[in-house]
Amino acid sequence: MVAQSHYGEVTDGILALLTEIVGARNVLTGDERENYARDEMPIPKPALPDVVVKPKDTDSVVKILKLANEKNIPVTPRGGGTGLSGGAVPIYEGIVLSVERMNRILEIDEDNFVATVEPGATLSDLYQAVEEHGLYYPLYPGEMSATIGGNVATNAGGMKAVKYGVTRHFVVGLEAVLPTGETIQTGGKFVKCSTGYDLTQLIIGSEGTLAVITKVMLRLIPPPGRREILFVPFNSLHDAIKSVPDIFKERVLPVGIEFMERDIINMVEQYTGKEIPLHGYEAFLMIIVEADSEDEIHQISSQIGEVCLNHGAVDVFIPGSERAKRRLLESREKFYHVIQHFGMTDIADVVVPCSRIADFVELAKGIANEYRIPLVAYGHAGDGNVHLHHMSQETDKAEDKIKEILTKIYEVGVSLGGTISGEHGLGFAKKGYLHMAADKDKLELMKRVKRAFDPNNIMNPGKIFDLE
Ligand SMILES: Cc1cc2nc3c(=O)[nH]c(=O)nc-3n(C[C@H](O)[C@H](O)[C@H](O)COP(=O)(O)OP(=O)(O)OC[C@H]3O[C@@H](n4cnc5c(N)ncnc54)[C@H](O)[C@@H]3O)c2cc1C
Repeated sequence: MVAQSHYGEVTDGILALLTEIVGARNVLTGDERENYARDEMPIPKPALPDVVVKPKDTDSVVKILKLANEKNIPVTPRGGGTGLSGGAVPIYEGIVLSVERMNRILEIDEDNFVATVEPGATLSDLYQAVEEHGLYYPLYPGEMSATIGGNVATNAGGMKAVKYGVTRHFVVGLEAVLPTGETIQTGGKFVKCSTGYDLTQLIIGSEGTLAVITKVMLRLIPPPGRREILFVPFNSLHDAIKSVPDIFKERVLPVGIEFMERDIINMVEQYTGKEIPLHGYEAFLMIIVEADSEDEIHQISSQIGEVCLNHGAVDVFIPGSERAKRRLLESREKFYHVIQHFGMTDIADVVVPCSRIADFVELAKGIANEYRIPLVAYGHAGDGNVHLHHMSQETDKAEDKIKEILTKIYEVGVSLGGTISGEHGLGFAKKGYLHMAADKDKLELMKRVKRAFDPNNIMNPGKIFDLE
């Protein structure tokens, strides 16, 4: 995919050494590599790696990285491949290091409320294991087949960030292998740590450019007693989003507040063939509330409902059964695939301060209108994270226009106090916009950090920024 590179070739000799490390079945050089040539981001041309290796343990990761570093071969770590910025796409070819076989839940420590997992365990594996122990991992990044390693590497957010924050708020420790082959342990089964630089937090969100994450320790909490979902229709998006700051002013804290418009609701209905309640209105808030008791949840839901009605909400729909709640949430989880089905050309996930979200969405829509390219907007109204998708059947013709639109949209986001990406990372898709959110000194410091971890720039090169 990248025309020229100074990297070494994956020779037969290197393939033989990789085979010694992980066994022949776990070294892929044939057509199966196509499954590792892209992630969920829409890209016109996949990037085929020379080889995919699937280690089973940390020792094997150490050996693979030492070999790659010595032979100057780029290594792209890969989890579930559900990323939306091309982070797991091997743009310099070389080795894809897939952690899919390192997928064990190693321990659920009920005394310390900590889960220790291998990086290839999926979110759904984690939820199930934690639930079996009567505990709770409250984060809800929308894709259950994503791995915990991928969640950590992208600092995944999702629908419950208003109350619980994002992945970095739940990671208490890591094991990671550096590109030069050393294994480091960071943090531990404790919340407090004031012992030198916080390498855990540095590796979180580094998108596989600093190290391969080989173990993750996650903080758990007791489960809430009750969960409620409010689905609130409005006659305008402006009214819907303007309700959000006033919900917080009531001093109640929902778990998440999602916003969406009629166009996406209609697309979901067409895609699934199932009707969504109150689907005829212009805009909606989906508000997730968790609390310990029936009384508490009732009180929070009433307060939120009242604020929405004061802002022109047409109704407040509360699904009566667990099944109906699940159905609503599943509709929301489907947004990305539905939009993909109807011709999305790209995805932006700008984050702005919550109080500026209405301004941001209106300005972004105004920009897209100028270019006459439809823009679908939805997202996490409660934490300021907006997903924007341009819809065009004529991808090639629209490409330049879309770059211009995105540049303008990012400019607006940054000028409102926000930044380029709230949860999907930069990968290679958004690296060209990083300078808009990070000044020269900050960018140079990031590059110095990268060089300190990875002197030969073999770890996921060409992601987040280019090293010149
Ligand atoms: C339908 C859908 C909904 C989504 N909803 C959300 C959402 O609500 N919130 C959100 O944050 N994201 C969301 N995503 C994006 C995606 O699921 C997340 O970015 C997720 O964290 C990626 O995990 P993964 O295992 O698929 O990682 P991959 O796509 O395989 O990799 C992502 C990045 O992490 C690096 N990486 C992976 N594993 C490791 C490792 N062990 N060590 C070092 N680096 C590693 C890769 O090199 C790459 O840079 C959604 C995606 C889809 C398709």
